[in-house]
Amino acid sequence: MRTPIIAGNWKLNNNPEDTTKFVNAVKDQLPDSNKVESVIAAPAVDLPALLAAAKGSNLHTAAENCYFENSGAFTGETSPQVLNEMGINYVVIGHSERRDYFHETDEDINKKAHAVLDNQMTPIICCGETLETREAGKTEEWVQNQVTAALKELSAQQVAGLVIAYEPIWAIGTGKTATSDQAQEICHVIRETVKDLYDATTSDNVRIQYGGSVKPANVKDLMSKPDIDGGLVGGASLEPESFLQLVNYQD
Ligand code: PGA
Repeated sequence: MRTPIIAGNWKLNNNPEDTTKFVNAVKDQLPDSNKVESVIAAPAVDLPALLAAAKGSNLHTAAENCYFENSGAFTGETSPQVLNEMGINYVVIGHSERRDYFHETDEDINKKAHAVLDNQMTPIICCGETLETREAGKTEEWVQNQVTAALKELSAQQVAGLVIAYEPIWAIGTGKTATSDQAQEICHVIRETVKDLYDATTSDNVRIQYGGSVKPANVKDLMSKPDIDGGLVGGASLEPESFLQLVNYQD
């Protein structure tokens, strides 16, 4: 009932020319969007190239961040309104790198979630614990709090349509994937949190991704878990071949 969604997160990699080459290399081999949704989140400066190359294909487009105001005196920020006008589908919100290096708070992330939804796009809201939090046995509580804060004052209908990405920080870019059971356990906690905050229909509909060293070799196992509806993939999304293997994991 939930369409799987595999999203590449390029982070600060690739220029417009690389972007065009990448999309041209993958666009005819992507799965039908009803079967698996394929998404690339690219740096803001690459988005015009991404949109132009992806036009008419099964590739969905995402920004890696945006601001929560549409315009004004906010030097250096990206407007969610303009992203929508350009034709962007998704915006990644609250990635751990944004929280850590750019000091984004739960409150900022909640404001961004509202701004993205108000501009007819879909947020991919990231959450996840540090190794320290995991070792202290506080992962569930940590993730529950992050999700609750991110969803503040969103309607059930809005939450049902968005995406939450569970990304344990200790598994990002480290080659250390959470086991599929560890990933399933916390994705289940997230779904239960949504159920407690809203209702069963909302939690049945919200899509939950796992992220952190997802690669062609482990994607099938992760995707076989009942509460994992997709992946948010950094390193393994940079090469066309490996991105294609990820999105075509069902074949
Ligand atoms: P990774 O990054 O796949 O390189 O671990 C995931 C992410 O940060 O979204």
